[in-house]
Amino acid sequence: MDCLFCKIIAKQIPVDLIYENEKVVAFLDINPVNPGHLLVVPKVHSENIAVAADDDLIALTLAVKKLAPAVCAVTACDGWNLEVNNGNAAGQAIDHTHWHIVPRRKDDGFKHWPGHPYAAGEAAKIIALIRENLMS
Ligand code: AMP
Ligand code: ZN
Repeated sequence: MDCLFCKIIAKQIPVDLIYENEKVVAFLDINPVNPGHLLVVPKVHSENIAVAADDDLIALTLAVKKLAPAVCAVTACDGWNLEVNNGNAAGQAIDHTHWHIVPRRKDDGFKHWPGHPYAAGEAAKIIALIRENLMS
């Protein structure tokens, strides 16, 4: 399997790890949205959240809880985004589960994605479909 993050974890590609424990590693994104932008990556390969092991997802969450305040403190951020792109249509370029911690400043110029209200009856339909899918 030709996976960049597996190669980083196997130390075949040198990266300055900021954090490592039994389950996850964290390192700077090579092309940051803002300085301090981190990637938190489970050591075991999985393509995305939907198929990742539960204990890897727990480890990712706990690592984010530890790392984000540290990133925020040293970058004097006003907030931070936890971003997860699942699937190429959602912007996932590397098919190994990873979460982005992006420190944000009030004046960094980035905007939230646009929202659009539901048409009449549309929300009820999708609620019913999702509930049905969860039960199947
Ligand atoms: P995504 O679009 O969610 O799959 O994010 C992949 C991220 O990996 C991008 O933000 C890239 O800038 C980052 N990236 C790609 N190669 C490297 C690398 N060698 N070291 C660190 N980050 C990388
Ligand atoms: Zn991988």
